[in-house]
Formats: sequence, C-alpha cells, structure tokens
Amino acid sequence: MTVHRVSRFGFVNAFLVEEPDGFTLIDTMLPGSAKAILKAADGHEIKRIALTHAHGDHIGSLDALAERLPGVEVLISPRDARLLAKDMTLDPGEEKGKLRGGYSGAKTKPTRTVEPGERIGSLEVVAAPGHTPGQVAFLDTRDRTLYCGDAYATLGGVATTAKPFTRFPLPAKATWHHPTALETAKALRALEPARLAPGHGKVVESPATEMDRAIARGSS
Ligand SMILES: [Zn+2]
Repeated sequence: MTVHRVSRFGFVNAFLVEEPDGFTLIDTMLPGSAKAILKAADGHEIKRIALTHAHGDHIGSLDALAERLPGVEVLISPRDARLLAKDMTLDPGEEKGKLRGGYSGAKTKPTRTVEPGERIGSLEVVAAPGHTPGQVAFLDTRDRTLYCGDAYATLGGVATTAKPFTRFPLPAKATWHHPTALETAKALRALEPARLAPGHGKVVESPATEMDRAIARGSS
C-alpha cells in the first residue's frame, strides 16, 4: 500500500489509508489542517477518521473535518474519548502518571469507540497506552504498516516516548506514564512492523533495528 502522509512543517502527520470504499484518515493534526487534508484526499471520499489519541495536535482539525464531511465515522478508544470530551478524570490506577500535553477537546463526538483487537477496515486496533492512557495504534494487516501515534516519533531519529529524546523531547514530555510507554514500545516492536508511520517525523521502512535501539535508549 502507498502510505499517504499529510504533514505540516514536517512536524506533525496525518495519514490517508486506502480502503475499497474510500479513505480512512488517521489523526487530524493541528487546528487549521482540514484544507490540507482534504486537498491530499484529492476528491476521494474520506469515510472515517480514526484517532490514535486525544492530544490537540492529533485532534485539532477534527471539528472542521467533521463539519465538511457529513456522515463521516469518527473512531477513538473509549478511554481517550473521555479526554476528547475534556473529561480529565483519572481511573483507579492511573494516578501513577499525570495527564500531560495539550488536551484541547473537540465538539465532535465519536460515532463509535474501538477496543484493541477490533478492525477498522484493513486496520487492526492495537493497544498503545503510556503516552496517553488510552492511546491506540493501527496496524495495516495488508502490509504491516504500523501507524503508531506517539508511541514512537521519528523526528531527529526513531525514539520512544518513554524518556525525553534530546533531539525531539516534546512527545515524551507530553507523556502520561513513561514505564507504560516503554512496555508499549516493546509490544509494538514485537508486531514486526514493515513500516513505522508516526505522528511526528518521517515514515521509516524496515524499522526493526531502529526500534530496538530506541527501546534500549528508552530503558537506560
Ligand atoms: Zn501526543
């Protein structure tokens, strides 16, 4: 599959995933990105919006897109759906971390929440907690492209969000619980992705070695 990356300033990404009935859009970037995303879709229908997590730089253009795409499906994990609605309460056990980063919230409500193991077309929903309590990744079962949200970033090199990475510390600094983020980084690596498509930075082909290195750095 061709990976359609839509990027602003090379810094924050959304992805258009081809399905037989149209596109699935993964994440919506910062506010003001709707036009760029619709332009990238090039007249093809965006059928659904799948969100990795509720941070403002991933859900920023959700409302604008939902307005312009009547009937679009909006999917997010049940846990981050609460953050999307600006409900900042923590569940029992979540006090081990702190909600960090920008939760701008959105007016748009998910049409459906998705749990790990469920499918969104060709995408398998994979648990990826740590960066936020309910982050999920999406694995394209056709070619093993892993849309990992902020479980990894590749800006300045592949890094986990388990520990601030000198060249791009932001995602780790916006992370709820670093040890959980490290466990997620390992679990995603075990999926043997053929391609890593993160929320921040470029798409990395055959990322195994770089993911291993990132895990080692995140563990030290
Ligand atoms: Zn984030």
